[in-house]
Amino acid sequence: MASVSSESSPQIVRVALPVPLRRLFDYTLPEGTTPRPGCRIKVPFGRRTMTGLVVSLENRSDISPDKLKTAIECLDTEPLIETGLMKFLSWIADYYLHPPGEVLFAALPVKLRQGHPAILPVETAWQITDAGREKLLLGPGRAKVQHAVLSTIAEADVPVTPAVLKAQFPGWRAAANALLRDAMIIEQELQPAKAVTIANGPDPTRDQQNAIDSINASKGRYCCFLLHGITGSGKTEVYLRSIETVLLDDRQALVLVPEISLTPQLVDRFRTRFSCPIEVMHSAMTDTQRMHAWERSRRGLASIIIGTRSAVFTPMQKPGIIIVDEEHDTSFKQQDGLRYHARDLAIKRASDAGIPVVLGSATPSLESYANAASGRYKLLSLTERATRASMPAVHILDMHKLPVDNGISMPLRDALRENFQRGNQSLLFLNRRGFAPAVCCTECTWLAHCIRCDAKLTWHRNQARLRCHHCGHEARWPEQCPDCGAMSLVTVGQGTEHIEEAIRKLVPDARIERIDRDTTRRKGELEDRLDRIHCGEADILVGTQMLSKGHDFPNVTLVGVIDTDQLLFSSDFRASERLFQLVTQVAGRAGRAEKPGTVLIQSRYPDSPWLRPCIDHDFEAFARMALGERMATDYPPYQHLALLRAEAPHQNAALEFLNTMHRAAMHVLDTHDTISDVAIMDPLPSVMEKRAGRYRAQLLTQSPSRSKLHMFLHYWVEAIETSRLSRNVRWSLDVDPVDLF
Ligand code: ADP
Ligand code: ZN
Ligand code: ZN
Repeated sequence: MASVSSESSPQIVRVALPVPLRRLFDYTLPEGTTPRPGCRIKVPFGRRTMTGLVVSLENRSDISPDKLKTAIECLDTEPLIETGLMKFLSWIADYYLHPPGEVLFAALPVKLRQGHPAILPVETAWQITDAGREKLLLGPGRAKVQHAVLSTIAEADVPVTPAVLKAQFPGWRAAANALLRDAMIIEQELQPAKAVTIANGPDPTRDQQNAIDSINASKGRYCCFLLHGITGSGKTEVYLRSIETVLLDDRQALVLVPEISLTPQLVDRFRTRFSCPIEVMHSAMTDTQRMHAWERSRRGLASIIIGTRSAVFTPMQKPGIIIVDEEHDTSFKQQDGLRYHARDLAIKRASDAGIPVVLGSATPSLESYANAASGRYKLLSLTERATRASMPAVHILDMHKLPVDNGISMPLRDALRENFQRGNQSLLFLNRRGFAPAVCCTECTWLAHCIRCDAKLTWHRNQARLRCHHCGHEARWPEQCPDCGAMSLVTVGQGTEHIEEAIRKLVPDARIERIDRDTTRRKGELEDRLDRIHCGEADILVGTQMLSKGHDFPNVTLVGVIDTDQLLFSSDFRASERLFQLVTQVAGRAGRAEKPGTVLIQSRYPDSPWLRPCIDHDFEAFARMALGERMATDYPPYQHLALLRAEAPHQNAALEFLNTMHRAAMHVLDTHDTISDVAIMDPLPSVMEKRAGRYRAQLLTQSPSRSKLHMFLHYWVEAIETSRLSRNVRWSLDVDPVDLF
């Protein structure tokens, strides 16, 4: 009889731990345990015990046997993260050159990271017994609640859940317990509803039908669709129809949305259409709720998962489609820790799973648009508004020539008054909260600055505070100029508070609703304000980008964009893209219903070529221009970027570190002939060099070849990590940065 050699059975477990090191850790296995990859395992680490995740089982380790520690216990009997998801997460660690343990743990809900068991609350329901029916005939007697509960259970066609009773009878719990004890009712585990019912939607337009057909034709196979539809063209309807197909196949749909547009209205649209279990992953969930949602999705009990960027890690038993709404939105990019882009990961995940992925937007990112143009993605276009409403007319107001009062030009003022008299709503957009973005002295050159950042302080008049929007530092309004002592401090420019006040004077009877971070801080405040707007209790809406997307305001017929010049003259290579997106999205709020809309854009540079496509609603013209510029200036999508950022409490430490890393980068290029076409820029102080008391600098690397850049980065990150200097600074590597600040 052949005996199994003891050497061939795995003795070593390779574990990922949530520590900032780009490596895995080997342990020997305790007697009798053979955990599977994807299970959690308790291990000793330093003087602590930690929860780790099993990555693989090995026969041997590079660590000598006497140095290996033994794992303590395995926490799961079945893998929490199945093989496919595990591979996806390892790919992410590799792509973003991020510590693998941190990546794997980023994908787990907090409760599971802490080692709690992956369990779901057992949902019970009750049914009446024969004894119960007999008892019911005897009438209520003294136990009135018991009788009421019993008859409710008797009358129901399906087992009755605690939630149903709770809604009707105070004291239901004691009554149900008594009935259960006397065997009047029996308890059973609630079975998840199997059949999905689907409510009717509107008949798709021809464009919509084409899009739906294309997506459906890709069922069970990877294809990336770019759904480019003008605002109001019914992209959501296309998502709903494609999800319908997936649900009928008993598969799951994952829908990623930007932070601001995860609204109750959006979720309602899904719930009204589909009767199936829908999980909404939002930031206000408790850790337990999040773990339950995650677990239901993993076990295939949730049919639709809607969430913001981190939902891209949600495990799914039977994935069927992934949808990324407003794919251009920057909130899909995580800006610290693991700096992933949820849209890019959604595409990778769909490709791994062999399912379609739909990227939707009225203003696609240039990266996605270029991919559609080259044929890597399939372009689906919706060119008309579904409701047949016309697109708003866009006009530019020349702020050099027109009389202006408190930031509002006369034509805008007149239009606001007229629109108000007609009983329509208007929306004023300004991406700057507070009263004024600067405070200065008219006698000298003093400007109110943050003591911890290279930034001006914003005057918030309602709270009577000067505030730094970068670090939260606050100061009082100085009585006199700190430099020259003059009593001549004034505010410069306008924020939303100021515009609100100006409108009160210009259109005195109008009811104004201001929506920005300051007026929506308290829970429920945003909803209250939106409700007032929808009920027609507001005439003029003033707000920041919180107003620019995700919300429909059917009665808004006039949109004023107070200031676009910030974006026309920004050093950010994506500024023109942002400008087009912003104007299109804000303009898209106007004239959604039968009433046509007007958009007035104030600018001191009315002839800027970037405003033309905004006026014409011409994405293609914009994209041609912007792609031409990107090509000429060596930016994405023609070049792939990776940015090494560093910050330190002392002015020179960050730059000194980057100078050394620049040499290390050159060394990598010199010693590896296979890595060509990679450019290393000089280290530079960041645009805002000092932030929150730390000095910041950055080093850009780029290449037209993604694979060459990655080859280089793998060698470079090793050099960075092992450098002694890296301990004096806080550093991070940002692959595909969305901004270079
Ligand atoms: P988008 O997401 O592209 O901005 P929506 O999906 O929100 O557009 O659709 C805009 C409006 O048009 C919504 O009120 C929606 O109910 C309506 N709508 C969408 N598709 C149709 C259709 N085929 N027929 C009639 N109305 C539609
Ligand atoms: Zn002064
Ligand atoms: Zn500051």
